[in-house]
Amino acid sequence: MIKGYQSQILKIYETIREQEQNALKERKNEIKGKLPNVLNIEKEISKFSIELAISSFKSIKNRDEYLKKLREKITDLRVTKSELLVSNGYAMDYLSLHYRCQKCKDTGFIGNNRCTCYKKKLVYLYYKNSELNTILEEDNFNNFSYECFSTKTSERYPKSPRKNIESIVKHCLYFIETFSSNNDNILFYGDPGSGKTFLTHCIAKELLDRGYLVIYRTAEDLIKDLRKIRLEHDYELENLLFDCDLLIIDDLGTEQINNFSKTELFNLINKKLLNKNKMLVSTNYSLDELLKTYTDRITSRLLGNFNLYHFYGEDIRIKMNLNKMKSL
Ligand SMILES: [Zn+2]
Repeated sequence: MIKGYQSQILKIYETIREQEQNALKERKNEIKGKLPNVLNIEKEISKFSIELAISSFKSIKNRDEYLKKLREKITDLRVTKSELLVSNGYAMDYLSLHYRCQKCKDTGFIGNNRCTCYKKKLVYLYYKNSELNTILEEDNFNNFSYECFSTKTSERYPKSPRKNIESIVKHCLYFIETFSSNNDNILFYGDPGSGKTFLTHCIAKELLDRGYLVIYRTAEDLIKDLRKIRLEHDYELENLLFDCDLLIIDDLGTEQINNFSKTELFNLINKKLLNKNKMLVSTNYSLDELLKTYTDRITSRLLGNFNLYHFYGEDIRIKMNLNKMKSL
């Protein structure tokens, strides 16, 4: 997981502001050589602006009239400056400081609230620093193949694994398309190797690419995180887990299950449901096994508030490797 992301992000903003200051210096130097008059006008503007500020506090005869005249002078000079720039093929704001984000002026904050560009940077940092970065190069919808799923039906499963996965993928694509407006949580359960983790990765990649903050944790890592939050008061980590757009908990059931893990897991799931922060949970357990392993408080939330998708069929990991070998 990324550590100290807040200071890393503030550093990014600092660098952006420095770069823009330097770019402005270069533009000024260029204009100094080509259109020196423009810089003289700029100097005049700043001289009058200072005078305007000072005069507002002074007692001068006919002050209002004087201030009005000063303002008019400044406006005229600005117009002349813009005309000079534009008639020589430059943009009107060529000598102004540029902001990559107009909303927060490259500070990341609007008042006390984080700007939308802050989240983009967080997604980028998280993506770059997570193990997901390399995994998702392979595990994404472009590489998703239905070929690995059998078309055979059985008495137990009248719907073939292929038909089943087609329908699950369809729902997942809809979940992605409507992500900003839906309030869905997803539970993948069923046989190991039936495509749950792969599909989970596909969803993560698609949403991260669309700028959503998706945090991916195995259940084991998640419990370690929750312990850290509880014992070390790691607020950054707490914010990431509790406030991200989608928290993926992979392999539920493989973590060490004890009273601490059960309590903390319940608190997390419950809080996220109350705050309408989405989750995707995957487990190799059957629904029966889930009910036997976890407390009623946890399972009632998982079964009652999540869309359940049952995965079954042969181990596609073996099939996928065989396919890869065939193509070598
Ligand atoms: Zn911004």
